[in-house]
Amino acid sequence: MQVRRIPLSRPFISDEIRQAVLGVLDSGRFILGPQCQQFERELAQFAGRTHAVLSSSWTAGVYLLHLAMDLRPGDEVIVPSHTAFPSIEPMLHCGAHPVFVDIDDTYCMDPELIEAAITPRTVGILPVHLYGHPADLDHIIEIARRHNLWVIEDCAQAHGALYRNRPVGSIGTAAAFSFYPSKNLTVLGDGGCVLTDDSAIAERVRMLRDHGRRSKYTHEVPGFNLRFNEIQAAVGRVGLRHLAELNAGRRAAAARYRERLAGVVELPQQRQWATAVYHMFVIRHPRRDELAKFLHERGVETGIHYPIPNHQQPAITARFRKIPALPRTEQAVREILSLPIHGQISLEEVDYVSDCIIEFAGRN
Ligand SMILES: *Cc1c(COP(=O)(O)O)cnc(C)c1O
Repeated sequence: MQVRRIPLSRPFISDEIRQAVLGVLDSGRFILGPQCQQFERELAQFAGRTHAVLSSSWTAGVYLLHLAMDLRPGDEVIVPSHTAFPSIEPMLHCGAHPVFVDIDDTYCMDPELIEAAITPRTVGILPVHLYGHPADLDHIIEIARRHNLWVIEDCAQAHGALYRNRPVGSIGTAAAFSFYPSKNLTVLGDGGCVLTDDSAIAERVRMLRDHGRRSKYTHEVPGFNLRFNEIQAAVGRVGLRHLAELNAGRRAAAARYRERLAGVVELPQQRQWATAVYHMFVIRHPRRDELAKFLHERGVETGIHYPIPNHQQPAITARFRKIPALPRTEQAVREILSLPIHGQISLEEVDYVSDCIIEFAGRN
């Protein structure tokens, strides 16, 4: 039997990227130079925003964003529990409290549950466009307006996704991308960027990421070194030019999985107003662990995003006493399984994975 290995994800690397890296080596500029400035302009334009500010990761950028927006100890932020832990890490460092709400069948925060979670201490809502499917932003923004709250969109898994034909990241008070290697757009290392139309917020994030200064030797506030670098900006610029075709590759793979696996496993929902970019293709199965093992034995790598919801993480349960149950989240984490998907996966690979799943279903 031929041994195959199908990875869960694979970053986009090309000769154009290799050339771009070599070009920077010869430029003599390494940090916050012309590549970073161009990448910021291109990202802002891509996301339909006035400002994009690069930082060393999503987590770093959003921490600076929270500081710039004056998030304070005891402030409450409404957030889904079913997301990567970093979604809530920056607010914890500000002393703010995440107030968790359950998900709907798209795995994003259920907007119907937000209003009941609002208290006099609530300052903002942080929806996550999980797995590349947009959260229901109009609904969320309407609630935020009524209660005078900000909205920060977590776009770490959704570069290029559309909500009612508008790019995600263009709609909230601010938003942030991650460029970690598995994401739809990567810089082949860590990286992130904050997006907003608010010039004062953008300016403060820019200052904070670079030692609290705007000019070389005048430090207006104590800041950090959470800057970005030229080599990775050059990589990201090439990736951004290819993002549409890579997302199309993900959507084609998702369509094939849907065709092959309909009636075999539970498939992800896609709202009619959503253009999803399938950062993950997440199925559900009551015997998820057995299915994962079966696929592993056939060379198919799978993942669970995420096995422990944030409201049950030790970092949370040790700090906060009253944590409500989230039945849909708790059920989902027992059944979800992420299948291989990336911008260059072939339909033949998707068929192989699908055949293995159909074989498992037939035996069980
Ligand atoms: C990856 C990810 C983050 C964190 O991004 P980093 O760049 O690794 O800090 C935040 N939120 C979500 C939903 C993510 O998937």
